[in-house]
Amino acid sequence: MYNIAIDGPAGAGKSTIAKIVAKKLEFIYVDTGAMYRTLALACFRAGIDASEEAKVIEKCKDVTVTLGYEDGTQKVYLNGEDVSQEIRREEIGNMTSAIAVYGPVRELMVAMQQKLARENNVVMDGRDIGTVVLPNADLKVYLTASARTRAERRYKELIEKGQECNLDAIEEDIKKRDERDMNREVAPLKQAEDAVLVDSSDMDIDQVVETIVSLAK
Ligand code: C5P
Repeated sequence: MYNIAIDGPAGAGKSTIAKIVAKKLEFIYVDTGAMYRTLALACFRAGIDASEEAKVIEKCKDVTVTLGYEDGTQKVYLNGEDVSQEIRREEIGNMTSAIAVYGPVRELMVAMQQKLARENNVVMDGRDIGTVVLPNADLKVYLTASARTRAERRYKELIEKGQECNLDAIEEDIKKRDERDMNREVAPLKQAEDAVLVDSSDMDIDQVVETIVSLAK
């Protein structure tokens, strides 16, 4: 199997890029952030606070997260229910990085991700794919962009969806999330030694896609 790992901070464009690369190469796209988000949603719905470690872990062990594909788009299911849209809410994104610090939560997800990669050609995006999940990936990319650029992209997305938002507040949230993801004890976000660094601040989507596809080829 051929495995491509794409890691990087929130809002670097990983999922947009990974999806297109997967389509071009006819690989399966695995959005690992969506998997962690689904667990966070399960805790949120159960009224569990992210700081309640034992309860979070118990809940995560108790639910099933599955991935499916409809018209080539990844869907994620919580106990069989399609929650692909709901997990995108800002408050769920923030809660996700707070529960993703727990080792037992990560073990559950990593096992699922490794199985997918053993059985399929994948483009997998996340924070720890090149470092922990797929240390032997055939190609590793660390995709980043400045915090301001990432906040501006997110801001545009939300405005296009008609949601009210504030650019400075988004940038603050992004920085907070980076800080937590990069400094946690278990599987922190960092560039793997053998990963290719791609800074997309001054690149458009096509340029980033082309860079990664040609690296794979
Ligand atoms: O990429 P996305 O914004 O969907 O990820 C949400 C959160 O899930 C991240 O901020 C991170 O804390 C966590 N995550 C992780 N490991 C991954 C993917 C996501 O810890 N492989």
